Amino acid sequence: MKYISTRGGAEPVDFVSACLAGLAPDGGLYMPQSWPQITPPAPDEAYTVTAARVFAGFAGETIAHADLLAMCERAYSSFAHQSVAPLTELGRNVWMMELHHGPTLAFKDVAMQIIAQIYDHALERSGERLSIICATSGDTGGAAAAAFAGARHSDLYILHPHERISPVQRRFMTTTGLANVHNLAIDGDFDDCQAIVKALFADKGFVAEVGLSGVNSINSARIVAQAVYYASVQVKIGSKARFIVPSGNMGDALAGYVAAKCGLLPYGFECHCAVNENDALARILNAGEMKREAAVMTPSPAMDISVPSNFERVLYEASGGDADFVRQTYEAYGRSGEVALPDSIVAEFAALGFTAARVSNAETKAEMVRVLDETGWQICPHTAVGTFEARREPRGDVVSVVLATAHAAKFPETVKAATGQDAALPARCGDIASRAEVFERLPAELGIVGDYVRKHSGKGAM
Ligand SMILES: *Cc1c(COP(=O)(O)O)cnc(C)c1O
Repeated sequence: MKYISTRGGAEPVDFVSACLAGLAPDGGLYMPQSWPQITPPAPDEAYTVTAARVFAGFAGETIAHADLLAMCERAYSSFAHQSVAPLTELGRNVWMMELHHGPTLAFKDVAMQIIAQIYDHALERSGERLSIICATSGDTGGAAAAAFAGARHSDLYILHPHERISPVQRRFMTTTGLANVHNLAIDGDFDDCQAIVKALFADKGFVAEVGLSGVNSINSARIVAQAVYYASVQVKIGSKARFIVPSGNMGDALAGYVAAKCGLLPYGFECHCAVNENDALARILNAGEMKREAAVMTPSPAMDISVPSNFERVLYEASGGDADFVRQTYEAYGRSGEVALPDSIVAEFAALGFTAARVSNAETKAEMVRVLDETGWQICPHTAVGTFEARREPRGDVVSVVLATAHAAKFPETVKAATGQDAALPARCGDIASRAEVFERLPAELGIVGDYVRKHSGKGAM
């Protein structure tokens, strides 16, 4: 099984290389050359067993099946719920798939815990040391810190937008107390952080010098890890489901598509992307309008994204795998910040199973109150964007499954402002509220961030 770039200008590579590289060298995203066909799980199959089977389909010969199983077991032993993604009923034909039972209370843990295992496995064999860098809008960074803290063969650099993530989100990354985790608070927004990371990857000399690697939402292994929970939930539902996915970079929504392509969603694929007031993704999917705009702050900061990075893979699929078209589109977008996609491509997004809609800040807060009143549950603001959409368009007998992407306690200020209630951290989070934080504040300047990484790379070894 080989992985090729959405822009057509990179050598095909194997699964582990695609995972360690993050971005392809031509600036594109890796896609499998063909979709592995994977048998859906039986209702009683353990989550870790399903996960190992799905990874085996994508990893081919690069990792032995027994190793994959052991890695999945280690990865998911950190979850509070054995089924990893339990379902709860929110109302008639509306369910929530709870993805927040991992160590940092957001769905990013599901992928990051296994990615850290894959890195350790690969680097143990090759004897390399890597500098892993990621930009975070809040949750990826904490999940990466929890997964890579104390990793033996890598240093982790996390760029977060200074004062634009919640204090709890920040504490999950800044309190690990481990020398191989470096937190950089960047004076700018998430897109500034992401732009710096992209530019560092574009500098081939720098990449080689520090052994640069990425675990952002474009990482192939993250998408594979997230496809597993769609499969595990689909078998419990046992009939056609419409997935409603609170979306930012579109990694989670894409994972559902990947699950369907691999035969894991036998009743078909319908994915409704619910976005906040940063509605770039909705404008792209509904009207073909790709337009660069600054992100605005909303109650759901992990979705404050103006350039949804995984959309490039959807565009590749919608064009029938036309890498030249994808490359030209992104070149034009890079030049002018604005592209109008052809109607035929826009029609294809819906044919692939994707729709999208925007939920306002006021609707999000009202939805948090409504769910609390009706069920007694606190939900996080991202999840509320999804449950709002599930109710806006009820679909009769088709079951709606809303991805509950984070725990309410990760956004206590927002929960309090909307509902008047305190959202307490689960006991398993221990003392993160009182531990000392370590982070470095830096301007949004490529040279300064590059120098920081250069200076620390290889030195965080324990
Ligand atoms: C990352 C994140 C999202 C958005 O997921 P994408 O894969 O980027 O679309 C939604 N909700 C929460 C809580 C997140 O952390």
